[in-house]
Amino acid sequence: GDDAPRHDSAEQLHQRIDSSKAHPARVYDVFLGGKDNYAADRDAAAAALAANPRGYLDVRHNRDFMRRSVNYLTREAGLRQFLDMGTGLPTQENVHQVAQRIAPGARIVYVDNDPVVLAHARALLASGPQGATAYIDADLRDPAKILQAAAGTIDLDAPVALGLVAILHFIEDAEAYDIVRSLVDALPPGSALFLSHLTSDLNAEKIAKVAETYHERGFTFVLRSADEVRRFFTENGLEIVEPGIVPAHHWRPDHVADHDGGAGRDEAYVASLDPVE
Ligand code: SAH
Repeated sequence: GDDAPRHDSAEQLHQRIDSSKAHPARVYDVFLGGKDNYAADRDAAAAALAANPRGYLDVRHNRDFMRRSVNYLTREAGLRQFLDMGTGLPTQENVHQVAQRIAPGARIVYVDNDPVVLAHARALLASGPQGATAYIDADLRDPAKILQAAAGTIDLDAPVALGLVAILHFIEDAEAYDIVRSLVDALPPGSALFLSHLTSDLNAEKIAKVAETYHERGFTFVLRSADEVRRFFTENGLEIVEPGIVPAHHWRPDHVADHDGGAGRDEAYVASLDPVE
């Protein structure tokens, strides 16, 4: 039925790809220097960069935050299962590569709703032999479908690290808090939530202009303050680990030289992470 993971034929997939409009996954790919994007995506990225020339650095900080948080969750929090929502196009250091380097048996479920990500999902499925990876073509706004499909690969009665890295700004308030609640409610004690989010707390004027360029292209794009981001944790009874809700590049930096000199002082992301006790 409709709840089954989609296995589109190449032709069906092709029909779902609309290259005339910018898509978040492909715009993000432009920022990361990838090749899986179209003219409309490059145009959107150029407009965003005109509004905030630091955009390139922000996405790299975000991606690096994701690597460090998965590293922390695997090595220090001992998690072995990941549910990564809004995976994006495969690039360097996808979740399974980071987690399986530390724990070869780690199991990862990737979720995205962009057909171009689906078309490239094979690269995300290259699990090491001891672990497992799966890809679910689904919308974050359908958590029940995602959980049902994820249960084929990860055990939802054992702790899960839930990743919402740079995705919640595509979801309006009316849905975002409920979605996170239903996902966290489905996970057992010992699970964790890690996320990053665009904010207008820092670099406000430029980030507001970036948001405008996305709104003009029909994207939902919601900037949230650190307090609004904190609510994703506190409303669900989650305790936030040190150093709390901070600019992404300040979250447990491991390459000090990459993060000093004030290069990141306009950083647009806030990020945090929380093992549920
Ligand atoms: N998490 C990755 C990629 C972030 S880009 C990283 O931080 O590096 C945001 C991704 O979220 C895109 O791939 C986009 O397709 C996906 N996305 C946006 N809205 C979504 C939704 N409602 N459901 C599922 N995926 C969504």
